[in-house]
Amino acid sequence: MTEEKPHILLVEDEIHLARGICFNLEQEGYRVSHVESGEEALERMAYDRFALIILDVMLPGMDGFAVCEKIRTMDSRVPVLILTARTEEGDRITGLEKGADDYLTKPFNLGEFLLRVRGMLRRSAWYRPEPVEEGYRFGDNEVFLLSYRAGTAQGEIDLTDLEVRMLSLFFQKEGEAVTRKELLERVWGYSSDAETRTLDNFIVRLRKYFEPDPANPVYFQTVRGVGYRFSRKSVF
Ligand code: CA
Repeated sequence: MTEEKPHILLVEDEIHLARGICFNLEQEGYRVSHVESGEEALERMAYDRFALIILDVMLPGMDGFAVCEKIRTMDSRVPVLILTARTEEGDRITGLEKGADDYLTKPFNLGEFLLRVRGMLRRSAWYRPEPVEEGYRFGDNEVFLLSYRAGTAQGEIDLTDLEVRMLSLFFQKEGEAVTRKELLERVWGYSSDAETRTLDNFIVRLRKYFEPDPANPVYFQTVRGVGYRFSRKSVF
C-alpha cells in the first residue's frame, strides 16, 4: 500500500520565496499546492482537504489574519502556520487569536521551518476523531477532545488541533504545575526560548473560552516562575 503524501496549501504572494518553500517541501516528500492570495486559498479549501496550511500575513486583498479567521469557520482542525514579516508582538497575538496554531517570523531558517511543518503534521495525524466520547467537565464547560469541540458558558465552540493537545495535557496533569518547557515540547514539539510568548498567548485564548472572568483565572492558573496549572475545582 502506498501512503498518501500529506497535502499542504501554501498561501504566499512572493513568488521567489514561494518557489523555494515548494521546492523544499516537495523534497521532503509532501505534495504542495500554491496560491498567491487569500481569496484563492478559500476557493481551494471549498473543494480540497489539506493536511496543513502555511499562510503569509501580508497578502494582496484579504490579509492572512482575515483568511485564517475564515479558514476556522470552514475547518476547525486543519493546522495553520502563519508566516509573518513583522516582528511586533501584537501581530503574533492577532494571529493566534484568529485561530492559527503557530507562526514563524520571516526571514526564517529552513531547518526550523521544516521542523515545524513536520511537527504540525505529526500532531494532527495522532488525533483522529472518534465517534462516541464522554465530555470532560469543569465549571460551566464540557470539553470533547476527540471530536474537537466544547460547550462553554458562551456557547458551543470548535477546538483547533493545538488547543486539543494543550487541553489534553492539562487534563492528564490536573492539579499539577506543568512547566513551560514541558508544555512547549509536548504541545508544539519544540523548546525555543525565543518564541515562548506563543504559549502565554495560547493560555489567554483558553481563558477567554473557559474562564468566567479571564482576568482572574480559576481553572488555568499561572504558576509564577514555573508555568501553568489546570484545576478543575475553582478555589473560590
Ligand atoms: Ca507577502
